[in-house]
Amino acid sequence: MKLIFERGAEGRGCSILPPCDVPEVEFSRKRETKLCLPSLSETEINRHYSELEKQVYGVNSGFYPLGSCTMKYNPKVNEAAAALPGFSGLHPLQPEHTVQGALELLNRSEKALCEITGMDRMTFQPAAGAHGEFTGLLLIKAYHQKRGEGEKRTKILVPDSAHGTNPASAAMAGFKVVNIPSGPDGCVDLEKLQEAAGEDTAGLMLTNPNTVGLFDKNILEITGIVHGAGGLCYYDGANLNAVMGIVRPGDMGFDVIHLNLHKTFSTPHGGGGPGSGPVGCKEFLAAFLPGKAAERREDGTYEFETPAESIGAVRSFWGNFLVVAKAYAYILSLGAEGIPEAAESAVLNANYLKKKLEDIYPMAYPGTCMHEFVMDLSKIKEKTGVTALDIAKGLLDGGIHPPTMYFPLIVHEALMFEPTETESRETLDEAAELLRKLYRTACENPKELHEAPIHTPVRRLDEVQAARKPVLRYSYDL
Ligand SMILES: *Cc1c(COP(=O)(O)O)cnc(C)c1O
Repeated sequence: MKLIFERGAEGRGCSILPPCDVPEVEFSRKRETKLCLPSLSETEINRHYSELEKQVYGVNSGFYPLGSCTMKYNPKVNEAAAALPGFSGLHPLQPEHTVQGALELLNRSEKALCEITGMDRMTFQPAAGAHGEFTGLLLIKAYHQKRGEGEKRTKILVPDSAHGTNPASAAMAGFKVVNIPSGPDGCVDLEKLQEAAGEDTAGLMLTNPNTVGLFDKNILEITGIVHGAGGLCYYDGANLNAVMGIVRPGDMGFDVIHLNLHKTFSTPHGGGGPGSGPVGCKEFLAAFLPGKAAERREDGTYEFETPAESIGAVRSFWGNFLVVAKAYAYILSLGAEGIPEAAESAVLNANYLKKKLEDIYPMAYPGTCMHEFVMDLSKIKEKTGVTALDIAKGLLDGGIHPPTMYFPLIVHEALMFEPTETESRETLDEAAELLRKLYRTACENPKELHEAPIHTPVRRLDEVQAARKPVLRYSYDL
């Protein structure tokens, strides 16, 4: 708020309000100085916010290859669909007969997403992926409890390439986490999994393709081992955009899944939400689902029903309904042909960029990747002193948003690129060119990269200070 504050301080266009008239006894934190509220014209305010907008980099500004987070194109028309007053003007406590259209949309979205994932039923209550994980684990717990094995089955197996939310959700749901190492090929080590699976196994959490961008070729063996031990298989669907319309988690042997509608199905994210992490399951778990599902009656009308042995609500009302509306618009506009095509393009784009870089940037895993790939810059760091962070900052100077850094944890000096399906060949060529240039700079003039970025609104931030002493609220001295 620099502009507004400076003008206020000069006194220009500043309206001074008298101190508020609240009795001392009732409000001890009464303001002692006069409040100086800026009074600016509409044009000045417009310019101020446009200026702020220009300083922020988003998918509308350019290439944004943030791996594992899928900052992809979110068609504006879906926003318009979700903003229709018949959707956006609803109140969650409205009587059922006044929200039939919304119920039909929930019912149809559930059917479409179950078809895409190979599940039988789905809840839209969870508000994000991690929230879906927690919900899915509660379903697994309810299943074992009902079979009288709740006490015994206390462990959740999680591969070491997993997203951090997986072990966190398992711990939150009251399970012990058992870490399963990956082999040198980036896939789950089958022997280690076999050793870990047993009578105390409640289930496995896995994302496929995994967070190093590889489709685990042994997926049927993996889910077979866990089922053989009496556990259930949970699919973290955050990477579904690599395989949607091509293979289904239900056919890979998974019993419970979550989707991140805000990653795969066209809701922008990165600003903190709202998101949606629907949880799907096979029929034998459907009775435990939380909240209420939109059911179709015989006469074609819809009603909300709570499953018979529901674990209870995990969120108020029906979840983030408008995110579901956007997902449904996306599914309808892409259709049965467009959905696999989006996945194929995402995989093609990632492989194209990977190929253009692999002669100079060492890749964490060789061969074909899925929708994302991970570079391992540890050798470059050894040779030149330039780190993954320095390259990321150099990308900022070149006008590109950096990829995900230092994740997954099993790769050192990791840079993880996910170009997404919507980038053109020209954009990928430009990105490759810039990365090759940064490599030359790393070899010839590493200092330049240690100092990057120099062309951004703020230079390199002190991330240690920011983590240790976060300023959690906006403040300034008068
Ligand atoms: C993003 C992500 C999650 C968590 O999803 P949120 O919606 O951010 O809670 C879980 N697993 C993977 C692989 C992810 O990329």
